[in-house]
Amino acid sequence: MNLHQPIPEEQTGAVEIRVRGRVQGVGFRPTVWRIARELGLMGEVLNDADGVLMRLGGNGDTIARFLERMESERPPLGRIDHVETRPFGGDLPREFRIADSVGGAAHTQVTPDAAICKECAAEVLDPFARRYRYPFINCTHCGPRFSIVTGIPYDREQTTMAMFPMCPACEAEYGDPADRRFHAEPIACHTCGPKARLIRFDGRAVSFDQHSMLDDVDAVCSLLQKGEIVAVKGLGGYQLACDAINAEAVNRLRALKQRDAKPFALMARDLDMIGRYCTLDDAARQALQSPEAPIVILLAGGPEHLPEAVAPGLRTLGFMLPTTPLHLLMLRRMTRPVVMTSGNLSDEPQVITEDDAKARLSAIAPYALIHDRAIANRIDDSVVRIMGERARLIRRARGYAPAPIKLPQGFEASPSLLALGGELKATFCLVKDGEAILSQHQGDLEDAATYDDYRKNLALYATLFDHAPQALIADKHPEYLSTKLARTRAQDESLVLIEAQHHHAHVASCLAENGYVLDAPPVLGIVLDGLGLGDDGTIWGGEFLFADYRGYERLGTFKPVAMPGGASAVREPWRNLYAHLMAEMGWAQFTMNFAELPLYAHLAARPRATLDAMIKKGVNAPHASSCGRLFDAVAAALGLAEDTQAYEGQAAAALEAIVDEDTLEREDELLAYPLNIPNLRSSGLPYIEPLAMWNAILGDLILKTPAPVMAARFHKGLARAIVGMARKLARRDSAEGPRFTHVALSGGCFQNRILFEEVVRRLEAEGFTVLTHAQVPANDGGLALGQAAIGAARLIDERAKSREGNVPCASGFQAAS
Ligand SMILES: [Zn+2]
Ligand SMILES: [Zn+2]
Repeated sequence: MNLHQPIPEEQTGAVEIRVRGRVQGVGFRPTVWRIARELGLMGEVLNDADGVLMRLGGNGDTIARFLERMESERPPLGRIDHVETRPFGGDLPREFRIADSVGGAAHTQVTPDAAICKECAAEVLDPFARRYRYPFINCTHCGPRFSIVTGIPYDREQTTMAMFPMCPACEAEYGDPADRRFHAEPIACHTCGPKARLIRFDGRAVSFDQHSMLDDVDAVCSLLQKGEIVAVKGLGGYQLACDAINAEAVNRLRALKQRDAKPFALMARDLDMIGRYCTLDDAARQALQSPEAPIVILLAGGPEHLPEAVAPGLRTLGFMLPTTPLHLLMLRRMTRPVVMTSGNLSDEPQVITEDDAKARLSAIAPYALIHDRAIANRIDDSVVRIMGERARLIRRARGYAPAPIKLPQGFEASPSLLALGGELKATFCLVKDGEAILSQHQGDLEDAATYDDYRKNLALYATLFDHAPQALIADKHPEYLSTKLARTRAQDESLVLIEAQHHHAHVASCLAENGYVLDAPPVLGIVLDGLGLGDDGTIWGGEFLFADYRGYERLGTFKPVAMPGGASAVREPWRNLYAHLMAEMGWAQFTMNFAELPLYAHLAARPRATLDAMIKKGVNAPHASSCGRLFDAVAAALGLAEDTQAYEGQAAAALEAIVDEDTLEREDELLAYPLNIPNLRSSGLPYIEPLAMWNAILGDLILKTPAPVMAARFHKGLARAIVGMARKLARRDSAEGPRFTHVALSGGCFQNRILFEEVVRRLEAEGFTVLTHAQVPANDGGLALGQAAIGAARLIDERAKSREGNVPCASGFQAAS
């Protein structure tokens, strides 16, 4: 993008420059001020409702140089989207100045929290600096933002720093445009700011025995080294920390937290330490060191190993670097990684207050590192995974939310609206002024405390973004709490309600984050996930949709197979295995051919009669065309799934984890498991039929083929079938060329790196342009963005229709209703 329009001759002298992007609250004005002064330009810079406005006087060459430097020297958290230059006829101050902000404070962006910057990290460790070992050091380029905001406009009075009046030294820095802390709202120091304190939850004094400790923060390190679990008040919520090398401590934490098998997040003081346990590539290093500083899921491997209890059954580890000065100081002396998991019980939201910490965490951690800066907004650590050499968000929270996502061309005219998201990994999404503001990860709404928090956050975002929706968008599933809430609110507030089909919303989410323009031709959306309600009232989860924002046509699917026990089938993978085998071959044939397998004995011992009755009568055994359930069934066949999986996707993650890379890369394609593409008898829809695959899997079990080889053959075979389906669907009888050229991938199954990379590689080899998720999760955490785009497209069309009496619509599509 060329940001600089040439300045015509007659515009030299004085110009007015408008800059849009992330330019407020990130140190943009002082940067402009510094460069303008260095170049001897006169004029002023100010914040207004549309971003930053500046007026410059000087000769054309100097102004051109200014514009170049403005871009190359922009502050680390700044982002320039658009620059407009026009002549200016008014008077200018001789000495360049920062002028008062004007109007439209509500438009001022609330920016995400940013990890400690390099300058602050160096300063906090400098014994001669005023803020030596000050755990709340920050500047315009780093520090808390969203987590401390209580209202707008974003200034100190509207944050949880309001109770800490600045000391004269801080005040001087705050007011000096030449200082790195000019207008850094959370500015603080030992004298005037918040203080950290190590406490015991039982109220007894902390004894600092024989250790030579610098301060309370440093003392935590000694406790961790001794095997203690410590609660730490982090940026967006409490965390629980323990020594990651100490298997006993890790197991104790797992037991006390009632966290069955989900992997724990880890923190290490530097990249070198992470490199001792994981493979680091450039994309991973970059993500770890970014201002967003997410947890990065890395392939385990290196000279050293962590106890199995850190990430049971997985070959990956989730690492982050110290994100705040508090973490940095705490881990300074720590020569091994620590577990740094969210401070909550089981699936509850993360604790943010001291009272709650005492009530909920004191049974887990005897000690807590607390401080007196309140957390206004709960925000979890974000999680990314490197796939296809790019960091892709799996949980979008700290560091990313609530940064706006610009909607593609064509969406400029969208009215304000609110999409309420799904049920699991829920987020919601505001649309305003052509931008989508996706909330941070909220969690699973079926947890009552999470649902309360979700509603609280809806109110908070409405305030922070001065947002009043004209329409609400929700999933079609009538039992989702988000859908129920949307229906109630639509009625109470007389708002338009649009219900978007689950998998259509996934496709729209992928299109929107890729900037796919509103009126572009439809794509093939391949959406592979657990479960979502289809338009025919059945459960979908492996869908091939010919879709744009306005509607979709279901062109292909996975085989619909019963889920005996409904929700129990999601928890117990063997139920899906049983249903698959019964659908393919029935018990008699299975017995005849495979009775020698341990798997046979395993299934024979199950309450088969009950399951058979459920499947036969169709009672509590809904059919689902789900890719996620297919993964569960295969994992169960390979003996990788315990009776009950602790979290959705655990069995699938275990299956991915054991894949033999050598088989994946080198073995003949012919040995990949075969899946065919016949048509469904009922609807004529092409579907992925796994019968031949099951025969091959059972055959491999008889041959005692190693499970890692089988897992590789499954991933490869599935990817080949998915791409085979795309190829088949693109073909047209007529000479018009392919039906689509673009394929969009979405749904939680695409968080499987091997499936993702195999499918992308094969689609590209077929000549398709592949659109994938990166800024927004492929899982249901990205659903709200897609809902928002579908709703916006609909309302834009309706407005055009009421104006012109007609509406552009992709014919034959099933529109959202
Ligand atoms: Zn800083
Ligand atoms: Zn101070």
